[in-house]
Amino acid sequence: MEIYRARPHIHGMATLLKLLPLVLIFGYALAVWRGSRWRLEKELSSNSTPLDDAEVAEKIKRLGAAVDLPALSARIYEIEPINGLASPDGRIFITRGLLNWRRSGLFTSDEIAAVIAHELGHIALGHHQRRMAVWAAQNAARVAIIMLLARFVPILGVFIANLLGGLFTAQMSQADEFEADAYATALLIRAGLDPSAQLRILRKLERMGTGAAAGPAWLMSHPATDKRVRRIEDLIEKWTGDAAEARTDSA
Ligand SMILES: [Zn+2]
Repeated sequence: MEIYRARPHIHGMATLLKLLPLVLIFGYALAVWRGSRWRLEKELSSNSTPLDDAEVAEKIKRLGAAVDLPALSARIYEIEPINGLASPDGRIFITRGLLNWRRSGLFTSDEIAAVIAHELGHIALGHHQRRMAVWAAQNAARVAIIMLLARFVPILGVFIANLLGGLFTAQMSQADEFEADAYATALLIRAGLDPSAQLRILRKLERMGTGAAAGPAWLMSHPATDKRVRRIEDLIEKWTGDAAEARTDSA
């Protein structure tokens, strides 16, 4: 009897030992993510300058006032690609490339405020932390799937695990983008800014992206423009009673 009673215990240990690699991978992935986040924050700090655009600065102040962050400001990240980004520690950056295009009259300050409102959405909704946790879990899950499938389909297993992981990440980041868009629409309305600026800059970036070898970075990490535009239009109509379509066309 004693022998039988001991068996579940041994099995428990064996299961724990089997899970150990997954726990280690999870921990390692977290460390890798933290490291790259730290490098990004350092790069943003050392390669950025104060925002020298009074009109944009004023719009950011209004966004900040609407979320009880009166000191909200942005800095210029001195790189050419067109991008707006929120660093995981809550700072906001617009790239020199984006501002250059604004100087040449392509983007209005309202449109840049729309990009910033979207980035604020990522911060407010905790997307950075969630992505980190999901990415680490995914690395562990990937190895688990490979280990499970190794017996049946050794090489195909790796392929299947990568495919599943990729699909999951894509779904997840799409959901984040739609959430950040909705947050931005609400915030722009609350700050008394023009929410349809979101639609205009999306369309402009899309036009710039087609034909160019490398499309605007901000767009590449985001879902299809048409889908986003439709959702934002619906929200604007719901929250303001205005049909936003007509206004996009006239801009
Ligand atoms: Zn985004």
